[in-house]
Amino acid sequence: MSVYLDHAATTPLCDEAREAMEPYLSQRFGNASEPHARGREARLGLEQARRRLAELLDCEPGQLVFTSGGTEADNQAVFGLCGRPLGRLVASAIEHSAVRAPALELERQGFELAFATVDAQGVVDSARFADLVREGDRMAAVMWANNVTGTVQPVAELAAIAGERGVPLHVDAVQAAASIAIDFGGTGAETMAVSAHKLYGPKGVGALIARDPARVRPLIWGGGQEGGLRSGTENVPGIVGFAAALEAVRRRGDVRRRLRDRLEAMIGRGAGMSIVSRDAERLPGHVLILVEHLRADMLVLALDRAGFAVAAGSACAAGSAAPSHVLLAQGLTPDDARSVIRVSIGLDTTAEEVDGFWAALVACAERLRTGALPVTDVA
Ligand code: PLP
Repeated sequence: MSVYLDHAATTPLCDEAREAMEPYLSQRFGNASEPHARGREARLGLEQARRRLAELLDCEPGQLVFTSGGTEADNQAVFGLCGRPLGRLVASAIEHSAVRAPALELERQGFELAFATVDAQGVVDSARFADLVREGDRMAAVMWANNVTGTVQPVAELAAIAGERGVPLHVDAVQAAASIAIDFGGTGAETMAVSAHKLYGPKGVGALIARDPARVRPLIWGGGQEGGLRSGTENVPGIVGFAAALEAVRRRGDVRRRLRDRLEAMIGRGAGMSIVSRDAERLPGHVLILVEHLRADMLVLALDRAGFAVAAGSACAAGSAAPSHVLLAQGLTPDDARSVIRVSIGLDTTAEEVDGFWAALVACAERLRTGALPVTDVA
């Protein structure tokens, strides 16, 4: 199998999460809404996980609404906080499509949408944000850390600015939660999205944290689970695995920053390569490499053949060859934005893997530049 350096896309399930989930996938299979012993045992597991997650994320258990993942949590925050009648909302120019697409949909429905710009490092400009956000805006959205560049945003400062104007701030913490000790209470955010599969938990489960859950209307209607805010039989194994994974991640030593520095020192010596957002505060595992005059999608395929899984930083949506709105927002040209690969180091990555990746990158770039690698199967 290939060396996996795409932890920003998803992470493997950790042993702690798998072991915690196993009983709920087998004997403790009950429906948590049922009053009998099977149901109560599932409910107990669910509520224990809720309390553990609330402690780890610094919120009240009653402020956590379990969802099918980060995308649903982001959608619920945007649609739930904006509601009706029509109004105005602000989103940073670098939001993940899970926030950006619902914001654009609201614009299509008649809302006014304003984008908060970022500087050349990809960080939201707080002075401009302060000018942009107005009293009466329905909401503002700024992610804690960006999924493409890994840049960490000054969310507490931005929440204070929004708060002074009485505007609720939604924070997408989906990328940040595997690396930063998220403290919902400390940020001043109104809502926050988290997702288990980015932090060594299972796929298809996440949560929306809401300071005042009554403010976020449901997206999904039905049996009234999660206090009526998210109907549907709860994914008990997933939720239990989510809590176990976050707990385990917080306990583990972090090799990522050291390995990133090791890789970046090598990139610094490489010809025709540079690091995007190098001077910003970034998540410890993210390295975004601009490989001049090469198409990232070709490089990703070549590296895959060489045994290394990384991502093209260019793709702003699944299967899209369009340059990323994130990279354009921080001033990269469309050509440069198409020449960026994202390497995301994980907690189990080793120095040998990083060194092997660097050797493969140099070799693949060289072979692509000299035309020695066939790239005919690249769309
Ligand atoms: N927000 C960010 C910043 C992400 O990186 C992702 C996933 O890539 C999402 C939201 C969506 O989360 P999920 O995959 O759990 O739907």
